[in-house]
Amino acid sequence: MTKPSSHLPGARSTELFARAQQSIVGGVNSPVRAFRSVGMGPLFIQRGHGSRIVDVDGNEFIDYVGSWGPLILGHAHEAVLEAVQRVLRNGTSFGAPTELEVQLAEQVKDFVPSLERLRFVNSGNEATQGALRVARGFTGRDYVVKFAGCYHGSVDSLLVKAGSGATTLGVADSKGVPAASAGTTLVAEFNDLDSVIQLVEEYPGEIAAVILEYIPGNMGVIAPELPFLRGLRDLCDREGMLLICDEVMTGFRVARGGAQSLFDVPPDLSTFGKVIGGGFPVGAYGGRADVMAHIAPEGPVYQAGTLSGNPVAMAAGLATLKLLEDESVYSDLAAKTQRLTDAFSQIAGEGGVALQTTCFGGMFGFFFGDARVRNYTDALASRGDLYPHFFRGMLEHGVYLAPSPYEAAFVSTAHSDADLEQTIEAFRYAVGHL
Ligand SMILES: *Cc1c(COP(=O)(O)O)cnc(C)c1O
Repeated sequence: MTKPSSHLPGARSTELFARAQQSIVGGVNSPVRAFRSVGMGPLFIQRGHGSRIVDVDGNEFIDYVGSWGPLILGHAHEAVLEAVQRVLRNGTSFGAPTELEVQLAEQVKDFVPSLERLRFVNSGNEATQGALRVARGFTGRDYVVKFAGCYHGSVDSLLVKAGSGATTLGVADSKGVPAASAGTTLVAEFNDLDSVIQLVEEYPGEIAAVILEYIPGNMGVIAPELPFLRGLRDLCDREGMLLICDEVMTGFRVARGGAQSLFDVPPDLSTFGKVIGGGFPVGAYGGRADVMAHIAPEGPVYQAGTLSGNPVAMAAGLATLKLLEDESVYSDLAAKTQRLTDAFSQIAGEGGVALQTTCFGGMFGFFFGDARVRNYTDALASRGDLYPHFFRGMLEHGVYLAPSPYEAAFVSTAHSDADLEQTIEAFRYAVGHL
């Protein structure tokens, strides 16, 4: 692999971005893709294969974004391509049930035993929206507790982070979200059970659910403390609230059974996305059969989708999950993220750069700074200001990370020892030049 040009983005990416902005708002179809928080324009990607992506200027990178999580097998995996090609020749959508939906549902249930019943949707966003609606329908309550820094898609009522660490009534992060919507969201601090207890005391009998990423991956990667997760489970049981585990990022990523399998804290409902579609638009939500029975046509909670359960997407998800049955997959992924984060810590330490790293299965993250990061307040207090320069150093040495200090990184089964070695050398360079 040749070293990418040090003029990034290249001429063709720059030209395409200018053109894109004439027709697509901001030039991108999801904001973080614009690379604003690293102070440069985005690379337009031409193709991917295995662990690598190539941009339209011919620069090649080892990819740790993996389409933001779905590509646990790497790009253009033969088994996924083959399954998709076989299915699409028979028609791409019917809006009627197909056997593939049943097969994928059975496979997902097999991996995640807390899913007694589930429903497929087209994104993680729709999954969390559906889960909240059924939680509210089931309990007859309106309020939902979320945690500052946890991301659950751009659902109106969940676009609330609350600025300070205070546990306050939600104020939307986005214009266009009605105050009434944001006002049903109560924000607590991650790893702080007391902050949730306080809300429960303030809103007795009014909270439908507590939703969280058991392992937050959208404020950097943060490890949950076991007493916190266990405490949430007990509190939900005592107060008649549902515990919703958002596994859109962690599902089939940190372990075959998701984050919930690592901590033995069974949720009432879970949401999935990303890996479940093997690179196609699929989401799912599910859990307790008595709760899910409230969804139409069995019950009064309405939720629907024209392309939900799309056969091509189901085939990609199924081909992906089938390959995750292999016993060695998750130990191999964990060994890779451990090797990277160990090397990063060592190199940073030698260079006198303070660094905190975390890894779970095929996902990892790091914060620059001295203090251990337990929640969103800590994450924001870390040295995110070092990231743009670091990011560029990595990019120039052929390593493509997320263009923001508060995102997770992902390894795939396709990442080789040579990829890891090159990544560690890039890190040595990038940290050495901070
Ligand atoms: C990505 C993500 C979502 C949103 O999923 P989309 O498919 O982007 O709609 C929700 N929750 C978590 C934890 C995520 O990481």
